[in-house]
Amino acid sequence: MKITILGSGTCTPSLERNAAGVAIEAAGLLVLVDIGPGTIRRMCEAGIDPRSIDVIAITHFHVDHVSDLAAFLFASNYAYKSMREEPFHFVGPEGLEQFYKGLVAVYQDWIVPRGGRLRIRELKAQARDEFVLDGLRIVSGPALHYFPSLSYRIEAESAVVTITGDTDFSADVAELARGSDLFISECSMPEGRKVPGHMVPSEAGRTAALARAKKLVLTHFYPPCEEVDVAGQAGAFFSGEILKAVDLMTLEV
Ligand SMILES: [Zn+2]
Ligand SMILES: [Zn+2]
Repeated sequence: MKITILGSGTCTPSLERNAAGVAIEAAGLLVLVDIGPGTIRRMCEAGIDPRSIDVIAITHFHVDHVSDLAAFLFASNYAYKSMREEPFHFVGPEGLEQFYKGLVAVYQDWIVPRGGRLRIRELKAQARDEFVLDGLRIVSGPALHYFPSLSYRIEAESAVVTITGDTDFSADVAELARGSDLFISECSMPEGRKVPGHMVPSEAGRTAALARAKKLVLTHFYPPCEEVDVAGQAGAFFSGEILKAVDLMTLEV
């Protein structure tokens, strides 16, 4: 399983940190978790062809996690080189259908993938749910952000990666991440500057420890996180390896 951090930032405009997006290549599939503004461009920079996306899993509907979706759908109908003919899957919390219909109401048929290639699957917002495609399993669970928000546990090739999306500290998210080879946790603000609905390094570290994750990657940084050693702050609570994400970082598990 290969993981590429496409965006380690937030809504804050930044050349260094794009808004949220993670690419996972496993079991012959390409999964994108979140598709914030600039994600498609970052995929091109990473050498990952956006036409090869099999699944887009949305954690929640904040703009920094979804706004490249319309651009992706519009591009999917543009037949330069060969247009993808296989279906692609769009999964996310309850409200996903309504969100998509809202986009179509604004952008009209231009963004409706021709040939019925788009498959939409809503996942439960208040309980565990799962989406399975070939050799890949995505388990979702509620995140503690605004409602509805999900965290995702992705299992393939005997490896497990869990991505929190935006969340406050949550024992449920730790349980979802249990035994993960890689735990990609939001860490929006440094210690002492907590914002409700998001985590600081000590909470990300405690979640990774509760989950007995093997490795912790911190991401989703607002600018104050650049001024301090957030990995060091999390390290007081988690004894495994901790990395501070940068855009285009790749990891293998
Ligand atoms: Zn966010
Ligand atoms: Zn959010």
